[in-house]
Amino acid sequence: MTYEKSITAFEEAYRVIPGGVDSPVRAFKGVEGTPPFIQRGEGGYIYDIDGNCYIDFVQSWGPLIFGHCDVEIENAVIEAVKKGLSFGAPTLSETALASEIVSLFDTIDKVRFVSSGTEAVMSAIRLARGFTRRDTIVKFAGCYHGHSDSLLVQAGSGLATFGTPSSPGVPADLTQHTLLATYNDISIVEQCFIDAKGEIACVIIEPIAGNMGLVPASEAFLQSLRKICDEHGALLIFDEVMSGFRASLKGSQGISSVVPDMMTWGKVIGAGMPVGAFGARAEIMAYLSPEGPVYQAGTLSGNPVAMAAGLASLQKLKANPDIFATLEKRAKRLMEGFQKAADALDIPMVTEVRGSMFGLFFSATPVTNFTQAQQNDTKRFAKFHKGMLDRGVYLACSSYEAGFISTATTDEMIEKAIEMATETLKEIKN
Ligand SMILES: *Cc1c(COP(=O)(O)O)cnc(C)c1O
Repeated sequence: MTYEKSITAFEEAYRVIPGGVDSPVRAFKGVEGTPPFIQRGEGGYIYDIDGNCYIDFVQSWGPLIFGHCDVEIENAVIEAVKKGLSFGAPTLSETALASEIVSLFDTIDKVRFVSSGTEAVMSAIRLARGFTRRDTIVKFAGCYHGHSDSLLVQAGSGLATFGTPSSPGVPADLTQHTLLATYNDISIVEQCFIDAKGEIACVIIEPIAGNMGLVPASEAFLQSLRKICDEHGALLIFDEVMSGFRASLKGSQGISSVVPDMMTWGKVIGAGMPVGAFGARAEIMAYLSPEGPVYQAGTLSGNPVAMAAGLASLQKLKANPDIFATLEKRAKRLMEGFQKAADALDIPMVTEVRGSMFGLFFSATPVTNFTQAQQNDTKRFAKFHKGMLDRGVYLACSSYEAGFISTATTDEMIEKAIEMATETLKEIKN
């Protein structure tokens, strides 16, 4: 494969856009080579400007559960576009999409739409703080909740310690209210609740973490979180921007019995358009302006074109309840194929599947938290990624990202990807 046009395009982008990209992971810093510039997608494939074709296991980082250019979603968007791009006034499509979401969850009475996952989580945290009249929040190392200030936190010196900013530009004063705990380890959370007794507004978690590779929380851990939040009057927030309508129709709640107080969504609910949402029971949502005192707003929130895409996508998912079983079967087949190839070559690999999400680490031991994830062989992953790309398989360009199967990812594509992985693993064995 040649990437000549993409290489030139990247250089040109570099001149006018920092790092040549509008979101850092796209720059391929975690792997070898330059990012292909994408011209178009079709079903389970994407095509770059050099004319290369790839089986797409990124799906725009999750949103495209029906693949590229799904006809029904496309038609819904076109119909909406013809009526006008935005009004900044109420439209019926917002109520329709909100109703679809609310009808799936017993404890979610109302949702508000925003334009990104970052905004959804940022607003949910503000609401949790406003509702509980407390400032401190607990998050987990390795979970990503968008790039708002109080969530850009890394571990300080101790374990259950106050977080320090993970980026210049974030005042330490803001992250002081964010406690950092260890995924799948309730003892650290317990320590947080002792250290900050009566001050913790909420615990926020990706119940199926997809931003340190795919690392699900155990059922026992989620239950312990539920219990400790109840004991201390703190809210439990499930950030399901990635896993919502991806791991199952109900996200984590299709797999686990643990019910959160608040939820956030993004990605699939916009089907590729910029949409985020957060929801909770009526009592909590009543604190949000204009009903209540917690301010939150957005000029393009509930944008009719984005709502149309999300609505078409969610209605299709609800009308075809078998989708997730089919997707999970394919994802499992893919990971079993990779695993078998790696095992045959004595290359240490662990894999994970949740619905249409999959993940792999070049690691000899299971991964249940971020520290373990960081032990993965990133150099081997970079070589694997490059080998797969050269063979027409587009995987997420970092060993800390999940992969995605869409309904347009056929069994043939899965078999082809396994064949290419087997070749690539042989090539990179040493
Ligand atoms: C992608 C993601 C976000 C941020 O969403 P954006 O739309 O990129 O702002 C937040 N939380 C989780 C779990 C995500 O996967």
